[in-house]
Amino acid sequence: MLCELCGAEVARTKTISVEGTVLAACPSCARFGAEVNAPVGPRRTTPPAIAERLQARQRRMTEKDLYAQSGEEDLVDDYAMRIRKAREVRGWKQADLGMKINERVTIIAKLESGQMVPNEDLIRRLERALDITLKEKVPVVSAKKATTREAVTLGDLLERDDEE
Ligand SMILES: [Zn+2]
Repeated sequence: MLCELCGAEVARTKTISVEGTVLAACPSCARFGAEVNAPVGPRRTTPPAIAERLQARQRRMTEKDLYAQSGEEDLVDDYAMRIRKAREVRGWKQADLGMKINERVTIIAKLESGQMVPNEDLIRRLERALDITLKEKVPVVSAKKATTREAVTLGDLLERDDEE
């Protein structure tokens, strides 16, 4: 099973609650939250942050049809993985990164599991601390391509987040 906090593959996860969010965590991460009695099976519901992001993406793509020339920069879809990878390369724990950008470890955990989308201020602090890029120019979507945007399903997004 996969620890939703640090991403470690462990034989058995504990179900914990971190500030109201129920997560599957490995034994070493379980201390970050209160243990919940009811075992939680594979998550079937969509984490709210991802659902919001999908809606935001559809809105953006619609706007892109209108303002295709602007070439504005936008948060990359794999921001969670980029943050985690850059942190691991440096040998930092989530708590170490939290200290460097002045955020609690639960915020780092939510960012790295894709449950939280960083705002502009947080994006800048993460980019500076980790020396990474979290924003990129959005590819121009032509009116033709826009009709296939329904093809980006939630399953696609979740699978990509789970990739290692
Ligand atoms: Zn863990």
